[in-house]
Amino acid sequence: MRIGQGYDIHPLRVGRRLILGGIEIPFAKGLDGHSDADALTHAVCDAILGALGEGDLGGHFPSSNPQFKDLDSLAMLKDVATLMETKGFQLVNLDCCILAEAPKLSPYLKPMAERLARVLAVESHQINVKVKSGEGLGAIGRGEGIGAQAVCLLQRRPLHQ
Ligand SMILES: [Zn+2]
Repeated sequence: MRIGQGYDIHPLRVGRRLILGGIEIPFAKGLDGHSDADALTHAVCDAILGALGEGDLGGHFPSSNPQFKDLDSLAMLKDVATLMETKGFQLVNLDCCILAEAPKLSPYLKPMAERLARVLAVESHQINVKVKSGEGLGAIGRGEGIGAQAVCLLQRRPLHQ
């Protein structure tokens, strides 16, 4: 068994699309960054990379590389999933928390879990996505950005599989 944790945060800007867990959410602002700035998917990637002892997302997809500009973060997650498989591990479960003051994300949590599950080739019940507001405190509470945390558990794949 291997445990991993990931964290990410991106600023909210007018004129950007808001994408979390690969799901586009209608909102006046979106997350700004080099890729599509999907903070949830980035936290998930970092959790899995951490469990594998493989450093972090920035090491695998450097923002200095123009190839990764506006990249769909689900494509990064797919690469991380392939690395997990190559190293002989499979996902047991993944628990995530989005830190956001607005918009209201609860209707999108299940679709996010289903989207992440599809990319990771697991059942959606193995993935939990929840959301916490910033209660008006700090940068998250002022709606300046959206953050995400993720914790995952991996197990070594049985040899007969
Ligand atoms: Zn990020």
